[in-house]
Amino acid sequence: MSVAEVVVDVPTMQTNRPFEYEIPEQLADVVVPGMRVEVSFGRGKRKIQGFVMKIKDTSNFSGKLKPIDRVIDLRPVLTPEMLDLSYWLADQTYSFQISCLQTMLPSVMRAKYKQFVEAVPEFVDDAEVKSLLGDGESLEITSQMTDETIQLINRLRRQNKIEINYVVENQARQLKRQAVTTNLNPIQLREKRNSLRSNAKAQLKLVNYLIDNVDHLPIEMSELENDQDIGRSAIKTAEKNGILEIIEVTKRRKPVGITPEKTTKLALTDEQQQAVDQIVTAIDQSNPETFLIEGVTGSGKTEVYLQSIEQALNQGRSALMLVPEISLTPQMVNRVTGRFGNKVAVLHSGLSSGERYDEWTRIENGSVKVVVGARSAVFAPLKNIGLIIIDEEHEASYKQDDNPRYHARDVALWRAKQHKCPVVLGSATPSLESRARAQKGVYHLIYMKKRVNDHPLPHVQIIDMRDAENSAAKGDISPLLQDNLYRAVKRGEQAIVLLNRRGYSSFMMCRECGFTLKCPNCDVSLTYHKDLSKMKCHYCGHEEPVPTVCPNCKSKKIGFYGTGTQNIERQLNELLPQARVLRMDVDTTRRKGAHAKIIKAFGDHKADILLGTQMIAKGLDFPDVTLVGVINADTTLSISDYRASERTFQLLTQVSGRAGRADKEGHVIIQTFNPDHYAIKDAAVQDYETFYKQEMYLRHQSNYTPYYFTTLVSVAHKDEGQALKQSYWLKRQLQAALSDHSILLGPSPTMISRKQNKYYYQIIVKYKNEPQLHQKLLDILNDTQADTKKGFTIAIDNEPQHID
Ligand code: ADP
Ligand code: ZN
Ligand code: ZN
Repeated sequence: MSVAEVVVDVPTMQTNRPFEYEIPEQLADVVVPGMRVEVSFGRGKRKIQGFVMKIKDTSNFSGKLKPIDRVIDLRPVLTPEMLDLSYWLADQTYSFQISCLQTMLPSVMRAKYKQFVEAVPEFVDDAEVKSLLGDGESLEITSQMTDETIQLINRLRRQNKIEINYVVENQARQLKRQAVTTNLNPIQLREKRNSLRSNAKAQLKLVNYLIDNVDHLPIEMSELENDQDIGRSAIKTAEKNGILEIIEVTKRRKPVGITPEKTTKLALTDEQQQAVDQIVTAIDQSNPETFLIEGVTGSGKTEVYLQSIEQALNQGRSALMLVPEISLTPQMVNRVTGRFGNKVAVLHSGLSSGERYDEWTRIENGSVKVVVGARSAVFAPLKNIGLIIIDEEHEASYKQDDNPRYHARDVALWRAKQHKCPVVLGSATPSLESRARAQKGVYHLIYMKKRVNDHPLPHVQIIDMRDAENSAAKGDISPLLQDNLYRAVKRGEQAIVLLNRRGYSSFMMCRECGFTLKCPNCDVSLTYHKDLSKMKCHYCGHEEPVPTVCPNCKSKKIGFYGTGTQNIERQLNELLPQARVLRMDVDTTRRKGAHAKIIKAFGDHKADILLGTQMIAKGLDFPDVTLVGVINADTTLSISDYRASERTFQLLTQVSGRAGRADKEGHVIIQTFNPDHYAIKDAAVQDYETFYKQEMYLRHQSNYTPYYFTTLVSVAHKDEGQALKQSYWLKRQLQAALSDHSILLGPSPTMISRKQNKYYYQIIVKYKNEPQLHQKLLDILNDTQADTKKGFTIAIDNEPQHID
């Protein structure tokens, strides 16, 4: 008899281990590890999906094993390496193994279920069961159910009167999609619009959308629903009225925005050569060493990556390259695809699930040698990897915000050990963690201090916005920035204007002296809680009243900082009517491919000024950009997070690096209310090392990363009292397990303390060496599954990227 160990798709602590199933005769040659199967689980007819982890000859189980019902895949979807990785990942991130396995798969293969409520046979005639099911035998659980119905279901289930069965949805369904198109031309559409009643709001919105997007049809229905908030019923009505047609699209969307840029192999500078030599040696020696390239913006890191990849390919090996977000780094992707052609697969969010599946297959069967992608591409099923690159390694997006909360860097290091290949981390502004590891010799540090061709670093000017002369009479653009924008545009050059909007508009700042209100215990900014009318610290829970005058200078000009891009766009148009402004923010980039379009338009000189949020700070390389303006350097500085200075320094350095990359000299203007802050001053001269030393000193003083490890444990419950009570229970549990050397902060409410009707509290553990902590956290997770802790969810985040 053959037995399969299967990890089932039931995300609970009790089921977080493999279960044994018999492999029936007829499937004996079919089932292999890494394949998904359908099995019955628990009592009744509950059918669920599972992953085959292992196959063996005998079972330790004394009873009769259930058989595998059917196989979902004909070939394994996960390699043995990925199966191994899932054990490690689940342990590291305190996640269910099933979540880890699913995270590694392309989305099209993730399980989709319908859930049905059915009566347990003895209770078919039970009055309450009948009231729930009505005449039907089963009832599908949907998100539309009322709370009362859900409560009834939960109660009946506790009484074992009903059971919930899962049915795996037909996976082929996802390959066909419903989409909307129209045979009408814009003139006819306008006529239709004019004939609509003025209170037919949804219809008006839909028709307007069609008019605006006539060139982009057909558009998938899900996109209309999700991105445009246009409901299915409105679409159906419009169909009836002959405005549009609903069609099935099987045609896969073409990858958006990638235009391979052919570049020839460049003669390397000395610094580049030295970097390539070290990396290539590690590739040749199959040495799983980690390199950190600390290279100023414009030092030519891309060419180092490309030539190192080439060497891996020459050795018959493959290469994996991670970038923060494909749509924000199109130039990097274009260069890689340009150099290596169809050996490259690009995994990006613009791919439909079908395309993702195709790319995944090409990687898995070895026709692809180079994979470029964002965070989840770290699971690409490449074989014989010779090199892994993580560009802009400091980016927070490499950490997943949801379960499993993994960091792509950690996964990359794990894979590098398996494949015996080096990892290259690159950044102009490495994360403090990585830089500190390089300091200790854990990583191998490579400096690239010179810009290619000795282009000078841009000239940076810090504008003190506290000064009346600088602060614009009305608006946010100082006379000096305005003047420089005017002159750049007049010379036919281009400018980038950054509105620093990361973080929240909910911190308080004095416009007279730049003072922000800080926590006396934690040295982070207090956050304004509108619901309580209080200033609160998210670390320790300290709170105080909202001040009415500046505690520092007694000015009344204190306010909650925050300016929108649209507002700045309007100001730019008023001040510089001759300049063409392109705005790039969440509103203008909703559409798939919109990023790439805006970037291309700017590259083609269709605009003089590119105005945007954080998304314009990264990786853009435009030869004609000579001026960069930063409207408000302070917002990232004031977020209530100990990484605030680090994020500010990174952002300012990155955006400054956009100026003067070609032959023309660059100029950067940074407007700030904190001109003396070290993060701003060091960024102005692109002096990472000085910043690093100062920041390390402060982290040391206040016991933060990288001197201490940080684990964030958060607790959620529908009832605020319960959430608070459980978080104190949690704190006591931790307290008992930790030594005196560790620091426990909280419980304190999170930034948005109520999300989706749940209250969130968090506890921060800072520690240096706590061998017991890992097991204790696993135990706590286990305990939270007990009946007494029903409805109580807990999330554990190791080394959080944000604390909010
Ligand atoms: P960064 O280090 O900021 O990522 P890039 O890799 O974008 O810098 O390089 C900056 C510019 O220098 C690019 O336009 C690139 O084509 C050019 N460049 C890089 N290496 C060389 C070289 N060896 N010779 C000539 N130009 C180079
Ligand atoms: Zn505090
Ligand atoms: Zn003040």
